[in-house]
Amino acid sequence: MTIYAGTIVDTPGDPFTGDPAEALGETGALLVQHGVIRARGPLAALRAGHPDEPVVRLPDGMLVPGFIDTHVHFPQIRAIGGLGMPLLDWLERCALPEESKLAGQAYAREVAGEFLDGLLASGTTSALVFGSHFAPAMDELFAAASSRGLNLTSGLVLSDRILRPDLLNSPESALADSADLILRWHDRERLRYAVTPRFSLSASDDMLDVCAQLLGKGVWFTSHVNENVAEIATVAGLFPGARHYLDTYRRHGLVTERSVFAHNVHPDDAELDVLAEHGASVSHCPTSNCALGSGLFPLRRHVEHGVRVALGSDVGAGAGPFLPKEALQAYFIQQLLGAGGLPLTPVHLLYLATRAGARALGLDDRVGDFSVGKDFDAVWLNPAPGSVLAVNLKHASGTVDALARIFSLSTPADVAGVWIRGAERRVPR
Ligand SMILES: [Zn+2]
Repeated sequence: MTIYAGTIVDTPGDPFTGDPAEALGETGALLVQHGVIRARGPLAALRAGHPDEPVVRLPDGMLVPGFIDTHVHFPQIRAIGGLGMPLLDWLERCALPEESKLAGQAYAREVAGEFLDGLLASGTTSALVFGSHFAPAMDELFAAASSRGLNLTSGLVLSDRILRPDLLNSPESALADSADLILRWHDRERLRYAVTPRFSLSASDDMLDVCAQLLGKGVWFTSHVNENVAEIATVAGLFPGARHYLDTYRRHGLVTERSVFAHNVHPDDAELDVLAEHGASVSHCPTSNCALGSGLFPLRRHVEHGVRVALGSDVGAGAGPFLPKEALQAYFIQQLLGAGGLPLTPVHLLYLATRAGARALGLDDRVGDFSVGKDFDAVWLNPAPGSVLAVNLKHASGTVDALARIFSLSTPADVAGVWIRGAERRVPR
């Protein structure tokens, strides 16, 4: 057993339902055994009960739960920073040419390592990862995640039209390759499989039928929806019988409590009702929405309809895999929406970067906060002495104020330690 002592902060409650301050948790120490939290409380109390156990002291900064990224593209880690384009141009000019290169397995192996080390260095310990169009690249990703202990849900990306030809697969090969990957990787250690049509723009009804067959195997589902107005218009033209964009998925039984849809920047009320009714989640990707000019996310409408929302970095359209940056951008967007926005407190931001993701991914019985019985997945944010963040933390008036300074100022350089199920992971620098 090991005792971790410091300023330990989490959100065991839900700040969107009631007083945000009451959603916050804080303790001085955690007792961890075999990677699982066995007790939380003041250091003196835990030491009194376990006087012979070693104490890891984290004297400065703050220990928070490992971040949970609910939308990030593995093949795009080398394609961040393509500014100045709307979605469909950016895909064609930046993202998809890079994604094609993952046809080479050695290339995919290198990218998988860079990608997962990038998540770890950003304090991300769980992720729903948009995969590659190539099955061997998925084997590389799952193998690399397994060796790092990351909580990873991912799957082969399926498309049978409109994209460049080398990224297309037939519904038949999609079914066979996906079933094969599910057998090899789903529910193995901390890995799970997600059926992943790129978006219905590039997936025919036959392909979406295949997705439904695969979903019957008890796996997860993820895709994109309502990101950009030109995309939405194209989808409407491709599915003249659909009531709205989300209906292209719903008609195939793909909107479920195991479904996570990225973006949803431009939903109508009927779509929000369908999401809520089926218990599906939305991954809000703030820096991506801003970089591509996709729009300002209507968080208030999601919350009012009872739709679960978590955060995604959407790398490579997003500005990097560091979730606190997404949380800050989410805050900015709600400020810009004025009366239609939902003002976010620092407690909301911590919740969105951690526990909201655990709930969206059905992992909240295992990760997302530091409750007793959960895995010790944690990130220690501790800025260099004399840095602007260190100065601000020193002058913070309390925990909530300190969180505000962290979300405003922190970068991956402040990630001083990452633990996955109690094992400290070397943070690549
Ligand atoms: Zn995306």
